Amino acid sequence: MNFNSSNTRRSERPRLTIDTGALQRNWVKVGRAYSGKRVGAVLKSDAYGLGIERVAPVLASAGCREFWVATVEEGLALRRCLGSLAADQRIYLLHGLAGRSLTEHALLGMIPVLCSYEELETARTEAAKGRARRVAVQLDTGMTRLGLDAPQVMALAAAQRESDPYSGLGMLEVDAWITQLGHFNDPDAPECLAQLSLFAKLTALLPQAIRSIATSSTVFGDALWHFDSARVGSALYGVENVSKRVHGLESVATLCAQVLRVLEVPADTAVGYFGQYRTVGPATIATLAIGYGDGLPLAMGHRGHVILAGQGVPVIGEISMGLCSVDISSLAPGSVRAGDWAEVYGPRLPLHEQAERIAISPNALLVPTAKYAQHSYAATYPSADADIG
Ligand SMILES: *Cc1c(COP(=O)(O)O)cnc(C)c1O
Repeated sequence: MNFNSSNTRRSERPRLTIDTGALQRNWVKVGRAYSGKRVGAVLKSDAYGLGIERVAPVLASAGCREFWVATVEEGLALRRCLGSLAADQRIYLLHGLAGRSLTEHALLGMIPVLCSYEELETARTEAAKGRARRVAVQLDTGMTRLGLDAPQVMALAAAQRESDPYSGLGMLEVDAWITQLGHFNDPDAPECLAQLSLFAKLTALLPQAIRSIATSSTVFGDALWHFDSARVGSALYGVENVSKRVHGLESVATLCAQVLRVLEVPADTAVGYFGQYRTVGPATIATLAIGYGDGLPLAMGHRGHVILAGQGVPVIGEISMGLCSVDISSLAPGSVRAGDWAEVYGPRLPLHEQAERIAISPNALLVPTAKYAQHSYAATYPSADADIG
């Protein structure tokens, strides 16, 4: 059931507020940092949970023309919501052919990012016989996930010189060569530098096309990462995914959970299932309407914080399906009531700080919680002291 399409009023379900003004300003910030030709937006997983149908038009209006999604459904959603906004758009499917033909992709107006040598052979055979020829190709430079590995690329490059429609790339028209970093959150790691140099070496052997390795973590880095095209997701959505370097991105998504009940308890009271938490002294506890059924990571149990009455308060005990508890004893008595909303992440509790506290990646906190929450969209304007450069 997709609750986001229902128009339930006054629901206690977690609320996600999406600041489309901040989204737009993050887009500008990324564009200013990037020295290559084009920045493309990554919109997989429903735009990281924020809602592809609302996010994509904002980015297209701001000038985005390249869109990277995983699945064909996401590509179709993108087409629907973009309409004629970006007639010259390119839509790339990161999952590759996934059993479809090149002709189907051509009819859909989407470019498959071929993800294996087998896919390349299938596409080459079809291109030799038909008119659909356009593909992108992923190279596996060290992640062992998707893409052609180095020996396959070298074999391809060697066969390419023979100008035979059934060897090398044949009649295929390659729009882009891409690769993905394994240690994306630490671009200075030797593994990343090895992937960078292998990518440069392999693409030098191949016919000229757009080269793309840069993502959120490297788009702000040295120009040697930039090549021709960047594929940026996290940074647009305000997710700082290099913990050592925070780029001052604006918070886009704010998640809030409703307080269902506040109660005072004596020392040594068992809280939650199996009494996994016992109060040390007399305590005031608030029960929140959010749990793992709302995508809240179990790692929030015992470790997470939320903001209530302007202050950080700790989650106590484990996360239940639709509930969790926080200890609000440190707040002034009476400052929190049933019906109030606690911030789980947002401007007052940055997503990357919450994620670091509970030792998971920021996107592993954002995406599932954002997907389940009820969404509302509003554009803010930059505050006078905000640096939008
Ligand atoms: C998710 C993804 C990206 C975007 O990465 P961010 O760090 O969120 O910018 C880029 N390329 C590929 C292949 C991806 O899967």
